[in-house]
Amino acid sequence: MESLKEKKVLISGASMAGLSTAYWMNKLGYKVTVVEIANEPRTAGAAVDIKGTASDAAKRMGVFEQLKSHRLNVEMIEFKNAEDITEGSISLTSEGAEPPDDDIEIERDKFVSIFIDKLKNDVEFIFNNSIAALNETKDDIQVTFKNGSQQAFDLVLGCDGIHSAVRKLWFGDESEYSHFLKGYFSIIIVNKLLVKQKTMQMYNVPDKGIVLNAYKNKTDIIFCFFSEKEIPYNYRDEEQQRKIILDLFEGQGWRTAEILEEVQRSKSFYFDKFCQIKMPSWTKGRVALVGDAAYCASPAAGMGASLAINGATALADALEKHKGNFELAFQDYNKNLRPFIEDVQATAELNVQEMFNLRTEEAIRKRNTQKTSF
Ligand SMILES: Cc1cc2nc3c(=O)[nH]c(=O)nc-3n(C[C@H](O)[C@H](O)[C@H](O)COP(=O)(O)OP(=O)(O)OC[C@H]3O[C@@H](n4cnc5c(N)ncnc54)[C@H](O)[C@@H]3O)c2cc1C
Repeated sequence: MESLKEKKVLISGASMAGLSTAYWMNKLGYKVTVVEIANEPRTAGAAVDIKGTASDAAKRMGVFEQLKSHRLNVEMIEFKNAEDITEGSISLTSEGAEPPDDDIEIERDKFVSIFIDKLKNDVEFIFNNSIAALNETKDDIQVTFKNGSQQAFDLVLGCDGIHSAVRKLWFGDESEYSHFLKGYFSIIIVNKLLVKQKTMQMYNVPDKGIVLNAYKNKTDIIFCFFSEKEIPYNYRDEEQQRKIILDLFEGQGWRTAEILEEVQRSKSFYFDKFCQIKMPSWTKGRVALVGDAAYCASPAAGMGASLAINGATALADALEKHKGNFELAFQDYNKNLRPFIEDVQATAELNVQEMFNLRTEEAIRKRNTQKTSF
């Protein structure tokens, strides 16, 4: 696209949203720089899902077959009681059948390396740096980086996750946009199978749940619990967070004792609240947000990567349609993507209540013995 040549865009964050956005901006003809706060691409963390229209977007980006070749995909969900008896189960694939193309689960490192390989010759990546200040003028936006350097860009795209620095600098404090979903979760990834490969097992007592999800000789151990109000804890103190989980789940049935031993031994640990980011506009001036930074739906959606890919694609389609007129394009982006985001966020909120943090024995029995999908 002739009109976009020489236009420069800065993307903050080199993960699902940042890499998808970098792909499209480069394809549209922008000169793309990605700044990432970490020393290298972040590859640790739970697997992500590419679902529905995000699969179509991945096909348009030419990465679908590569993503698909690394698919993990759960085949069976089993609901367990305190005696380890399966009270109900959901089979997600029919015997011998290929899982559908519009639902691909993939480890984060595979996603990241597929995109970085595709972009490394065309896109400039700057690691170990971040945006410290933004100053918009009539013709561009001046960026001051943490290391003191300065550069002007035509657009800045914040793809820096739920705790986005671009959002904080340009749109206001996280507390204005973050909505607590009355629950917390923790994830520990262990390098062994605690249940059969491609199987997920769930065990709940009122207000608490444990999920085991096994793939490729690894198991994700996920804890979640209901909390009416936010609980005070130190975000940087992992041991304190680990203790919250150990204390809260001690003495529960099923395989809880054995699982808590894994938690004590494990090096990997992640703890956060279930929350969503809701903003009246994802754009302001020459700045737009994409992915969790703009519309995090929480892990309960199982849609984080899909939102990032769909968001990047919607933004690119709008810029292409309006031939780089970012003001009109940003209007379209806000308008066209919103119904989809609201739908996903509403489903995620229900998932927290009806799948992860069930409040009564009756609700647990009902969930365990009914055919449910999520
Ligand atoms: C425990 C857990 C389980 C999940 N399970 C699933 C699942 O099953 N399926 C699914 O699809 N999704 C899942 N998600 C959600 C999914 O991981 C996110 O929605 C997705 O990663 C969002 O992508 P993103 O690029 O917007 O943000 P992120 O992946 O958070 O990436 C943000 C990037 O920005 C960088 N960054 C941060 N601050 C700065 C800064 N100041 N300057 C520059 N760079 C910065 C970060 O280092 C990171 O690389 C889960 C999330 C969690 C936490």
